[in-house]
Amino acid sequence: MTSATFHGPSNSTTSNGIVAQLAGTLIPLKTTLETSKDVKLLNVFITAVPLKKASGTLSLIRQLIPRDGGYDLQHLRRFAKPDLIPSAIRNSYFASSAESSDTELIFLIVAVASIIPKDILLDSLQKDRVEGPVVLVEGQIPFNAPTSAEQAKAWTNEYWPTVYKKSNPFGPHPAIVARAQAEIEGNAGKWLSLAWTVAAEAKTARTGEGVGVVIVERSEQGERCLAVAGDARWDNWPRDCGGNGNVTAHAAMRAIAMVTAKLPNAIPVTETDIFRSQPLFSLETDVEEPVNKDGYLCHELEIYCTHEPCVMCAMAIVHSRFGKIVFEKRMDEGGITADLNDKNDGLGHGLWWRRELNWTMLGWEFRRKGDGNDGNECRLPWDVDNGLNA
Ligand SMILES: [Zn+2]
Repeated sequence: MTSATFHGPSNSTTSNGIVAQLAGTLIPLKTTLETSKDVKLLNVFITAVPLKKASGTLSLIRQLIPRDGGYDLQHLRRFAKPDLIPSAIRNSYFASSAESSDTELIFLIVAVASIIPKDILLDSLQKDRVEGPVVLVEGQIPFNAPTSAEQAKAWTNEYWPTVYKKSNPFGPHPAIVARAQAEIEGNAGKWLSLAWTVAAEAKTARTGEGVGVVIVERSEQGERCLAVAGDARWDNWPRDCGGNGNVTAHAAMRAIAMVTAKLPNAIPVTETDIFRSQPLFSLETDVEEPVNKDGYLCHELEIYCTHEPCVMCAMAIVHSRFGKIVFEKRMDEGGITADLNDKNDGLGHGLWWRRELNWTMLGWEFRRKGDGNDGNECRLPWDVDNGLNA
């Protein structure tokens, strides 16, 4: 572990040198599916028809292949003017077509290629055609809807005119994320500051690493802090035997244990409890009782973490059914993020939102604003060892 250098205090700080209300921005996390570079493509037949025949041709296609054979093409323009489609499709069509250049044409997606043989499709369309042979060219279209306006634009240039409808097939709906973000952004900096403060206590006491977690319940009565926990991996644990300390005493595990200890039917904790769920630091005692005691473990609660939790803690957070997670320091061994960090490190597990797990939540990375002493550079209270399992 690297030695710690404290960077505080500055003007509006707590006694530990940590700013009481951190200023910063919440960046919604990306899911593993959103960060995947693979675009699933479908092969389709495309043709062009005189503009005045467009709706008649589409009616014919709909009789021939009701509901597009079950494929959802809502994110694609069905018709597109020649200058709006990729030149490869346009050139391929005009290379085979005898269409006169003064006919005003419009291109359209006829059908997904796997659901109808080309000769049957050609025959059917030809019966409706008065002049010249029908030409079908093959192209590729994105199978899923785009997740951003930028992606829609890129797909329009590469495949076919694509529409971004503010939906997200690969993660939480943008409207849900925006609403939740508006709810939490006022106090996220305050809860993170509290997490850093308890982290400083753990670090100074040498009971654990400088990692802290705060759990918040949001209800009609407002926000209530249900647990504050610092890392306690070295509490009554030998440092000189190698290893990484007591993994069940990571800050997130302790905070979860503290909340669940307050629920009905909780197993009474003992002083030798391996989760170290009894308060060890002064801030850990200043918490409230949950309003909703009927929920499952940490159902829909919010968890604020100084560091991106390790894989073990990330799974514990998912299985405890938190509603939201916010963390500040992205970690090489973190289990939450799906995309790689700026050094191209990271595990990429993206455990906060994966369809195959039994629970998904909303997640943000908190980007701290510079404190004025060092321009806009993000400055944490001390140097963080990126390789730490938080
Ligand atoms: Zn952990």
